[in-house]
Amino acid sequence: MFRKILIANRGEIALRIVRTCREMNIRTVAVYSTADADDLAVQFANESVCIGEAPSAQSYLNMDNIITAALCTGCDAIHPGYGFLSENAEFARLCEENGLVFIGPESQTIEMLGDKARARALVAQHGVPVVPGSDGAVADSASAHVVAQRVGYPVLLKAAAGGGGRGMRRVDRDEDLDASLDEACAEARACFGDDTMYVEKLIVNPRHVEFQILADEEGHIIHLGERDCSVQRNHQKMIEESPSPALDESLREEMGQAAIAVAAAAHYRSAGTVEFVLSGRNFYFIEMNTRIQVEHPVTEMRCGCDLIKEQIRIAAGLRLPLIQSQVDMRGHSIECRINAEDPQHGFRPCPGTVEFLHLPGGNGIRVDSGLYAGGVISPFYDSMIGKVIVWAPTRLEAIRKMRRALEEMTIEGVDTNLDVVHLIMFNGDFLRGSYNTGFIEKHLDELLDIARLTEKVETGAVDMNAEHRKDE
Ligand code: ADP
Repeated sequence: MFRKILIANRGEIALRIVRTCREMNIRTVAVYSTADADDLAVQFANESVCIGEAPSAQSYLNMDNIITAALCTGCDAIHPGYGFLSENAEFARLCEENGLVFIGPESQTIEMLGDKARARALVAQHGVPVVPGSDGAVADSASAHVVAQRVGYPVLLKAAAGGGGRGMRRVDRDEDLDASLDEACAEARACFGDDTMYVEKLIVNPRHVEFQILADEEGHIIHLGERDCSVQRNHQKMIEESPSPALDESLREEMGQAAIAVAAAAHYRSAGTVEFVLSGRNFYFIEMNTRIQVEHPVTEMRCGCDLIKEQIRIAAGLRLPLIQSQVDMRGHSIECRINAEDPQHGFRPCPGTVEFLHLPGGNGIRVDSGLYAGGVISPFYDSMIGKVIVWAPTRLEAIRKMRRALEEMTIEGVDTNLDVVHLIMFNGDFLRGSYNTGFIEKHLDELLDIARLTEKVETGAVDMNAEHRKDE
């Protein structure tokens, strides 16, 4: 097993990784930018190294500084977390070349799956359904027109190197395609330095359902069930839950097998996530993420495992500790992402200082965050500052628990989306589990009407009792 791991990340995920390493008796090195010297991960890691100035390009994306920090502190491995360099094949290769184990898949796998057009073509060859669209990338606007006319409008133009919903454009009419293609290419070039595009049919208001995969070096692959991540704003997830209210056992089995087929086709090793859009009972592969996901705790709560620990064990060459039939998924788990943003002004990011903080606790509640009173939320990084995760035997009990947790949670000094996710826990469509990726847009006015929250909190228990009796 590794003796010392460098964590090439910050915030809640860096702290999350430090915690598992400590439990595994592995020493940790936190790296930080000049803006993050007071990060909790820096305080709890065994050692820490400043790797540059606040802008990510000079610190968390500075491969040479990170590799040098790992070598100077005698690390054997690097955990990249999510975002930053976690899906950067060049960084994984640099680790390999410097005798450091990259905790994730091999660099060639990251490269192949990171090209979403190539990944699509590969999995289609292995019989996994993909959204109707182009075979790989489209060379020019003329071929994009041909594909779009073949599959029928509306279509989505997507960047092969895309992520975080960037480089993606919806096109409703043939005459709009050229302008949207120019826009999407420009965004993709700016974000990823690569404007390779592909075309998919737009599935109208699908659900986003993804499967957690674990695969070891010997080629054993298991899945740990699904997460429903359909509550999204601008293609960014806000709430995730497992199991998905949309799957029955037979669909779960079918999608789980498809997810395993994707991992097998890619000769995958490590933890990974296979993402699908689901429309009725039809599901289509959209991409495989080669890192730990923000929403991984939802899966951990249900299977009682530690996915970071499994990633580390796999990277150290160990076998999976269980086979598919031993995977024991129980109860229901929900996660709400907490973002430092102002919902009343287009959800714009709201950096600042946390003046007062109270985190919820109690049975079945987990809070993953790097927050503390007096801590500063930096304008340089993502506005996602923490996650509240609950577990309960049934979905309804999990919703009640989430309501209670959010009621208790207090963050003063910065604006957050706390009230918005809290209101979602009272929304009729959400309670019925009948929601899709259009949910937030559909209910936006109601979800911004924060004045209604107090009344909901006071009368909510009554609604829930009625729902509960119906359920029983
Ligand atoms: P990114 O890597 O940028 O996050 P994805 O391919 O994972 O992009 O898609 C992000 C979200 O966009 C999905 O969760 C889903 O809501 C939506 N989406 C992607 N492809 C389609 C599609 N073909 N039809 C409808 N919605 C889609």
